[in-house]
Amino acid sequence: MKQARLQKIQRVLSLRQPTLTVLLEEVHKPHNLSAILRSCDAVGAMQAHAIVPRGGMPTYNATSGSAEKWVPLHTHKQVIPTIEDLQKQGYQVLATHLSERAVDYREVDYTRPTCILLGAEKWGVSEDAAKAADQNIIIPMMGMVQSLNVSVAAATILFEAQRQRQVAGMYREPQIEPVTLKRLTFEWLYP
Ligand code: SAM
Repeated sequence: MKQARLQKIQRVLSLRQPTLTVLLEEVHKPHNLSAILRSCDAVGAMQAHAIVPRGGMPTYNATSGSAEKWVPLHTHKQVIPTIEDLQKQGYQVLATHLSERAVDYREVDYTRPTCILLGAEKWGVSEDAAKAADQNIIIPMMGMVQSLNVSVAAATILFEAQRQRQVAGMYREPQIEPVTLKRLTFEWLYP
């Protein structure tokens, strides 16, 4: 039993993508937060970032399958310094935002270190954050409704990133350092 769990943990960690993440700008509904973390886990994103909403950080939805245990969420106070910090670390920050410079999300190279910036349920990504991002991306909408639910948009883009990374062979070899892999194996086995 323990052996099977160890093998599963090692397999999942060997597929983790330390260079793929999301930044949530004041996403405040617990079920959206939980659903996004679940998608992050599914594509192997190692961690997620969030700007704390005005009303405080929502508690997770218990129906999420507890993805937050496997995808740590780092909270930040301000969006622009957080974007700048991620850019300094080498991430391209892609704001999901309709603007003149927005491109179809399928035109982007997600094999590069990538952070997908997603906006609040009502207001979307702020203008300042969209400007600070390296690129604006959009999922083309052809129906009567103008936008998708934020967790659906996150999943759509994350799975395009997964597809591209799979084609590029990024799930074939572990992307995390052996020492980190060892540490996380221990932490996940004995939480
Ligand atoms: N009125 C808001 C706006 O204009 O952005 C709608 C926000 S939408 C419900 C919440 C978030 O979902 C957006 O900020 C974006 O992150 C994501 N989203 C929704 N539809 C999208 C689409 N078609 N393309 C890219 N992202 C989308």
